[in-house]
This record gives sequence, C-alpha cells and structure tokens, in this order.
Amino acid sequence: MDKTDERCRKVGRADSGNKFLNTLQGWLGTGMDFRTCRNRHLHMHTGGKVMELLEERIRRDGKVKPGNVLKVDSFLNHQMDVELFSEMGKEFRRLFPGKEINKILTIEASGIGIACITAQYFQVPVVFAKKSQSINLDGEQYVTKIESFTHKRVYDVIVAKKFLGKDDHVLIIDDFLANGCAAAGLIDLVKSAGATVEGVGIAVEKGFQEGGRLLRSKGVRVESLAIVDSMNADTGEIIFRQQA
Ligand code: 5GP
Repeated sequence: MDKTDERCRKVGRADSGNKFLNTLQGWLGTGMDFRTCRNRHLHMHTGGKVMELLEERIRRDGKVKPGNVLKVDSFLNHQMDVELFSEMGKEFRRLFPGKEINKILTIEASGIGIACITAQYFQVPVVFAKKSQSINLDGEQYVTKIESFTHKRVYDVIVAKKFLGKDDHVLIIDDFLANGCAAAGLIDLVKSAGATVEGVGIAVEKGFQEGGRLLRSKGVRVESLAIVDSMNADTGEIIFRQQA
C-alpha cells in the first residue's frame, strides 16, 4: 500500500492538523500569499486570469462547511457555469500543451462537466469512470476502489476496457483534489490499461490536504487552477496559494 492509498483510508481524519501550519506558511513562508474572506480583501495576485476568475468566484459564491468541505454547488458541481468552464478548459489546454494527450479521464459525476468542456480544447474524447455497475456496462472492465471524500464510503470505480488502452495518453480531470483518493484511483485505472498518465488537471485543490503533495512527490504532473491553503468554517475565511 503506497502513501496515497494509506492516506485515502484515513480520509476524514487529521486534516485539521495541517491547517495551522498552512496558515502560518501563508503569512510567513513566502510573504506573498493573499488572504481573502467574504468581507475583506487583501489581494495580491500574479497568477493567470482564469485562476483569478475562479478564486473570485469561490470567494463570492463558495461556502466553507465543517469537515473541510468547500461548497461550490452554485457554479461548479451542481449548477454549472459553462462560460467559466470554458475559460478553465482553455487554461488546461495552455497548461498541458503538445499533441500527446488523446483522451481525458474523469469520474462521475462532478468531473464530467469540466472534462467535457475541456475536451473541446483538446479535441479528444472523454471517458468517465463509473461508480456503479449497470446493464450498460458490458465487456471486460478495469476496476479499482476509491474512498469518496464527500460520501465517506468506498466505491468500485469502473472503466470498460474498450475505452482505455496501452496507446492512450491520458489527462485526468476532476473538480476537487483533497486527499488524492479519486486521482490515485483514476491513475490506477490508466496504469491497469497500460496507458500513460500525462497529467492531472484540477479545478480546486485543497492544498492543506495531502493529495497534491503525494501525487507530485510521485512525479505526477498536477496543475490546479485554484489552490486553497486554508479555510475556516466559522469565519468563512479562505486563503489561496499564490501561483506563478
Ligand atoms: P479526494 O479523492 O482527493 O480526497 O477528493 C476528491 C473528490 O472528492 C472530488 O472528486 C470531489 O468530488 C470530492 N471533494 C473533495 N473535497 C471536496 C470539497 O471540499 N467540496 C466538494 N464539493 N467536493 C469535494
């Protein structure tokens, strides 16, 4: 069992331990992070327009819930702002240039919208991993297990073998990166197929959780459009990481 798997099994615990360190790092580490809350801005931004757009939107419409959950259902994963998705898709294209990527892989349900809009800029098909068996899933399958951050249960995650093969160069797209279980599971599916992971594109990474660090430490290229370094359910305060 590698570290990401281990962390996935401990989902829901120990997240608060990192909060203090990240907050401190936000203020002292680089001295360049910017701090935001609903009523107050101390804004220093050198990132791209899309990152700025997404951060502004999170600040305006996102709600910090207990248990380290950021609710963004009004524009990202229930009601979807397709214009914002288009900007995000263009940005993923810019971040993953070149011709290698010939498929986008995501997981149902909330990754699908972003993946589909992004795929238009790559002109490649999207495959989404299913979280349950159905009569429409026929033939041989790749299966892995993922522990859901939001539902706190373990799913079998399935992709039909006919949609993922050794010649595929795959970009994984998802809405959130928290402990990294979803991304690690998708990487596992790609590897089972003998295909190549070209990278992971994430809309919102919660940088105070382990997923991003663990994936990057394994050499996976992870690009997140917004990284939340800390957030506070009591005050609604959200601190974003400054990105180049
Ligand atoms: P991970 O597997 O990295 O722990 O969590 C990623 C998955 O859990 C994403 O597919 C996303 O659907 C969900 N998720 C994790 N954190 C959040 C969150 O703060 N808000 C929402 N809405 N979804 C989350």
